[in-house]
Amino acid sequence: MLGVSDAATEAAQSQPELRVLFEIGGYEGHDMRACAAVLKPKLEAAGQFVVNITDDWEQFRKENILKYDLVVSGICARRSIFTKEWEEGLSGFVESGKGFIGLHGSTDSFRDSDVYWRIVGGRFTRHGHGEHTVRIADRSHVIVKGVADFQLIDETYCHEFHPDSKVTVLARRDCDDEPAAWVQHYGDGRVFCTSIGHDHQSWNAPGYQEIFTRACLWATRKI
Ligand SMILES: [Zn+2]
Repeated sequence: MLGVSDAATEAAQSQPELRVLFEIGGYEGHDMRACAAVLKPKLEAAGQFVVNITDDWEQFRKENILKYDLVVSGICARRSIFTKEWEEGLSGFVESGKGFIGLHGSTDSFRDSDVYWRIVGGRFTRHGHGEHTVRIADRSHVIVKGVADFQLIDETYCHEFHPDSKVTVLARRDCDDEPAAWVQHYGDGRVFCTSIGHDHQSWNAPGYQEIFTRACLWATRKI
């Protein structure tokens, strides 16, 4: 006979896996392979996520992306072209109800693509750097509910938002009141994006890790 904890474990094990495409690559000033190595175990500890870290951007093509439930993009590629095939793959994926998470340099990528900008919501304009407080702005949202404001030493990305995006800002910086994290819907899909994440000082911040993990759960409709 199964005990309660055995039954819970069995139930968790019987749930289908959530397959995550964690894309990296581009600007070498961002060590996103190291970032992904920090975040992957946090995600896998949170539930049934199975994370594939890759710099193969052909995974955005529709015949490849359909294998996944969630895309996390740590790509920073300002001058790279987002091909029509990648655009079609990613937009169809999110529109159909799958999730997208954009980290830091994701807002300074594929600037030729209006569709990419619309999916991410914000596009990088400028940045500073320094110590500041990330202040939770919308305490009712499940991604940040109960999360305390936290200190960071990080780049301070600023953005212009796509005219067709309707973002809900979840966190702002105290130093300039600019959005540090937001969510929106794209078709039936859920999108979370954060300006945070230049280097290990932010990846290792517990507040950042908590928000990232919850964002992945929210984008895959687990919370
Ligand atoms: Zn950076």
